[in-house]
Amino acid sequence: MTLRSILIHPDPRLKKVCEPVPDLTDELRELADDMLQTMYDAPGIGLAAPQVGITKRLIVLDCVKEEGATPRPLVMFNPEVVASSDERSVYEEGCLSIPDQYAEVERPSEVTVRWMDRDGRLQEETFADLWATCVQHEIDHLDGILFIDYLKPLKRQLITRKMQKLKRERARA
Ligand SMILES: [Zn+2]
Repeated sequence: MTLRSILIHPDPRLKKVCEPVPDLTDELRELADDMLQTMYDAPGIGLAAPQVGITKRLIVLDCVKEEGATPRPLVMFNPEVVASSDERSVYEEGCLSIPDQYAEVERPSEVTVRWMDRDGRLQEETFADLWATCVQHEIDHLDGILFIDYLKPLKRQLITRKMQKLKRERARA
């Protein structure tokens, strides 16, 4: 497995609508494994393929955060929200492509998601709480949507400027 480098906003690859994955290949499974390792290493609870520069519909997540609890890595190809609750909840979100910036985002509290797993099997599950927020955040990435797109323009611009500065600093380092 290889750690992949995570793109930092703003980057045109983070704004693309990603292509569906028609068939699983060893290369795609390897990409999923790399993404999980990259996510745990960051550390983060979710990562979408466009964040590592691959514009395909693939996300990975694991929202088990308690120390010592069994991890639950999920690999989702072509994930799709098939139902969402009317009830909404607010979570403070962050993103590995927008380091150290957090903001409250309101989303449906529960979502039912259908996806193809690492073995090519179709899965469907209803997620709540942090899992629901995380899976919606990651699926958004596949449509070129970032959590800051839900914020007021001024706040979004402020964060974008900070990220531009961060990228300049990193380029110089
Ligand atoms: Zn993100």
